[in-house]
Amino acid sequence: MIEVRNLHKYYGTLHVLRGIDVDIAKGEVFSVIGPSGSGKSTFLRCLNFLEEYQEGDVRFDGRLVGYRETVGKRLRAGAGSIAALRTRMGMVFQSFNLFSHKTVLENVMEGPVIVQKKPRGEVRTMALDLLAQVGLSEKAEQYPSKLSGGQQQRVGIARALAMQPEVMLFDEPTSALDPELVGEVLDVMKSLATGGMTMVIVTHEMSFAREVSDRVMMMDEGVVVEIDRPEVIFGSPRQARTADFLRRVV
Ligand code: ATP
Ligand code: MG
Repeated sequence: MIEVRNLHKYYGTLHVLRGIDVDIAKGEVFSVIGPSGSGKSTFLRCLNFLEEYQEGDVRFDGRLVGYRETVGKRLRAGAGSIAALRTRMGMVFQSFNLFSHKTVLENVMEGPVIVQKKPRGEVRTMALDLLAQVGLSEKAEQYPSKLSGGQQQRVGIARALAMQPEVMLFDEPTSALDPELVGEVLDVMKSLATGGMTMVIVTHEMSFAREVSDRVMMMDEGVVVEIDRPEVIFGSPRQARTADFLRRVV
């Protein structure tokens, strides 16, 4: 579903992604781990073109992400086609990014109503279902500032799901949370994973990654160190760099 070939990304002269190759299959739960600054967020953001890349291909269902293919050269895709692609890929960030002047329900309804121009009544029903799914039915009419961090992040997940994405991208969704609030967000993610959602998850939660992932990718300094099943990565990694990293974080 997502194919990444020889992906390179520079910030000015800083070479941040140095030839990433990976395929992520439909229905797969794919986690990305690695030291701070290794390029995990940058990799994730290239998948939906929140960051442009300079070399290599990112394809989503066979279509090149962010660029138009023409003979001999590559042109940036139009804003419309980039926006259309992004609606197919939900994203949840470390910070919750909710609209503070809108209620929880309005936050969840915003995308489908404004971007997808769906009828309000229909969207409202779906949004209430999603809030039930993340355990927040009773908070529908509250404003985000009245919610705990864990509740706000669950609204963030419901809001991303409201666009009915084919893939969900998570960038350390629990790292801004107090420890006692992490579990409730991970539980929502677990049930999404069980439900068959394709997920790419950048995380520092190693036990979670071990439990839910089909495969785990270890990155360091902009390259893939190894990709394997979680039992291998966490049990007997093939690469010394992975073992060193895990020794330091767990
Ligand atoms: P962390 O675990 O701390 O979130 P990460 O693995 O997600 O780290 P990235 O955020 O992808 O790392 O950053 C990779 C490299 O790119 C780092 O050296 C970072 O300083 C640099 N970088 C990230 N964003 C920018 C930017 N907008 N402009 C310039 N350099 C950037
Ligand atoms: Mg990051």
